[in-house]
Parts: sequence; C-alpha cells; structure tokens
Amino acid sequence: MNNRLLILFFLCSSLLFGANLHYSVIKKESGKEGPTLLIVGGIHGDEPGGYFAPMLMAKHYKIENGNVWIVPNLNFDSIVKNARGTYGDMNRKFAKIESKDKDFEIIADIKKLLLHPKVDLTLNLHDGKGFYRDQTINKDLNPKAWGQATIIDQQQIAGTKFGNLAEISKKVNKETNVELFEDMHVFNTKNTNTKTQDKQMQQSLTYFSIQNNKPAFAIETSKNITDLSQKVFYQLKTIEEFMNVMNIKYTRPFELKKETIKKLLEDDGILEIPTTKITLDLSTLKSYIKFFPMNKDKLVYSSNNPLVAVIKDKDEYKIMNGNILISRLKPDYTEFDNTLGTVFMSIDGIKSNVKIGTAITVKKEFLVEPIKGYRINVIGYSKAGVVSEAGIKISEKELIKSYAIDKAEDTYMVQFYKDKHFAGMLTVKFDNDKTTR
Ligand SMILES: [Zn+2]
Repeated sequence: MNNRLLILFFLCSSLLFGANLHYSVIKKESGKEGPTLLIVGGIHGDEPGGYFAPMLMAKHYKIENGNVWIVPNLNFDSIVKNARGTYGDMNRKFAKIESKDKDFEIIADIKKLLLHPKVDLTLNLHDGKGFYRDQTINKDLNPKAWGQATIIDQQQIAGTKFGNLAEISKKVNKETNVELFEDMHVFNTKNTNTKTQDKQMQQSLTYFSIQNNKPAFAIETSKNITDLSQKVFYQLKTIEEFMNVMNIKYTRPFELKKETIKKLLEDDGILEIPTTKITLDLSTLKSYIKFFPMNKDKLVYSSNNPLVAVIKDKDEYKIMNGNILISRLKPDYTEFDNTLGTVFMSIDGIKSNVKIGTAITVKKEFLVEPIKGYRINVIGYSKAGVVSEAGIKISEKELIKSYAIDKAEDTYMVQFYKDKHFAGMLTVKFDNDKTTR
C-alpha cells in the first residue's frame, strides 16, 4: 500500500469510529494536600466563553495547594467548527450513549475523569442564551434563559463534602456580582430540579456527577454578551470564587481585569511541528502560507495553547485557536530527511553556527554557507536561474513580500533539501526598525 492510501485509510477510519480531535487534560498539582477541582470547558463548541477561560487558566495559573485539573476543550471537533455539537449535543449523552456514536470514546473517557476518586468538585463551563431570571421580564430575561447563572441540579447532595450546592452557588454569585460591567450581567442561581422536572438535564454531565455523589455545577456566561474578554472575566472570577470556597490557593501573573484578559487572548500561542523542526508564532503568522513542507505521515504537532488544532481541509491545513482561524497552510508534499543538524551562516557579517529550526533576526543581510549535498531554498528570493541560494548574500529588498510568513511581512522561510527530500528549515526575520534603513 502506498502512502496516499494509508492516509485515506486513517481519515476514513477516524470518521467511522469516532471524533478526530481528543480533549486534553492539564493537571495543575501543587504537591501539597488539598482538594481537587475539575474544570471542563468546551462541551458546546459554539460557546467560546466556556473554553477560552480554562485555556488561560491552563496557560497562566499556578496552584499553591490542592489540585486543579483542566479540560479546556472537551468537544474539540465542535469547537473548531464553532458548532454546538458536530455529532449531536454532547451534554445529552451522559445517561446513555450508543457505541456507534462518534462521541462515545470522549464520553467514556471524561466519565472516568469525573468519577476519579481525587475529584471533589466539577465545573462545566457554558455560554448560554439570555440572562436567567426567576421571573419573566422580557424575551431575554426570564426563567428559560441560561446566561449569567450558576446552575445546580438540586439543592444539595446530603452527606457529601461541598454537597451544599445551593449555598455554595449563592456564595460564589455574591462575590462575582461585586464587579459587573453592566447591572444586567448579575449572576443568579438556576436550580433545574433535574430529578423531578428536567428530562433533558437528566442526560447532562453535571447530573451524571451528582448521581454519583460528586458535586458539580455549570457556570453560564451569556451569548448576549458579545465581548469575549467580558465573558472570560466572569468565568475566571467565578472559578476563582469556587477555588476560594474549596480553599484552593492559586496565583496568576496578571491582574484580573478585562483589559488584561483582552491582551492575553490576543496571544494565540506557538505551534511546533517536530518533523519540520520549526516553531511558528501564531500571533504574528500570516493568514495564508504557501510552500509549507509536509510529509504524508500523520501530522504531529504541539502548542502551548491547548485550543490550537491543525486540521486537514481538502488540500490545505487550517490552524485554529478554538473557533478562530489563524492561518491556512498550503502544503508542499515531500519526503523528509533528518541528517542535517546545524548550518553555517553569516548574519550581518558575523559568522555563526545555527541549529535547524531556529528563528533568526537579521538587521541587514544574511548568507547561508554552501553545504555539500544540500540545496538551500530561500522562499521568496526572486533571482531567476538560481537553483540553490547557498553562498548568496540576501537582504530584505531581494525578497518578495507575499512569500513572507508573518503579517508584518518581514519573516521568511529558509528551507534545506537533500536531493528531493526536505531536510528542515529556519526562519529569518528582518528587524522591524524601518527608520534605520
Ligand atoms: Zn452550553
């Protein structure tokens, strides 16, 4: 069987048997005694307030006692499609699920985590419709709305630590309500009285936990709030109040303010693709990149942002940060060769030994020394008739901006080839201080 057939087989098999993207679990363990909080984000893919908040926690929070386990992207296939549930509503599959359901494996795995003996309390994060009120005020503010509420399935779970659900949610809401962007954003407790009154919620994640004597709450910000940083603020504030109730101590290297959160959300993170030996800065990456070397093996990548996914889409790859499209890569399919480790370069006249995969900054010009047996291809270099750019002094003006890989259009790929095989690359960024030129 050739490579192409293998790829097709892999794609088909994953489509038949289950979800393509599995969630991640980030376990923040203090090493000190204390309770464990489990945070589950992204059960509904079109509720970004419910998954960007746990992403920021996973990235930035430090836990000083007890543990916080974070699943920022439970329904990852739906998050990248900005859909509630690509394979149906995942939050209606906890009472029963058929083995052929594409969410089967995800549900089985998360159930194990929910019931883990260490987990003392679970939060399921959402972004719901309207603003919950216990009386009907208008079409947005009424008992049927879900937004800006802490949801409980019943008043309490008798005899269980943190089982006084109503009391805890009241306490948490009181603290969250100290700082609101608008009065309308006030948080209330919504008790769905699941056992007797809500057939739908009997199939939900929180009710599954409750039935197993595990305290669980849903936190809902509102879809009617359009500013993502406000929603993330409310989610983080609420989660922090739950940690206070549980006596879990934490630190974060930023002030909990809307402006700070906005800044943090602008950082899309980095993407590492080990086979290419390259790390891409997603915050500055251009929206479309041509000639990106790929082989036909299963794509392996990692990121410091758990919401980053690379998805094959027809003959391109989409890089997503949650529901946000960062960039599309047009692959240049090639076999990979791993024999090259370092190259000799001259950077602004200074000779140095550079590791493949490095991001280099250049003021004026660079040159890659010829390497026996390897061809050097500077993507965007325009001189006709040049087969390899080895030994050629290159400054920014010789490069075609449309081939740059960043939004500022001053970073270029330098690729190495052994025969037809791709042997790694590095990136060269021309220092942005245009005034000195
Ligand atoms: Zn939801």
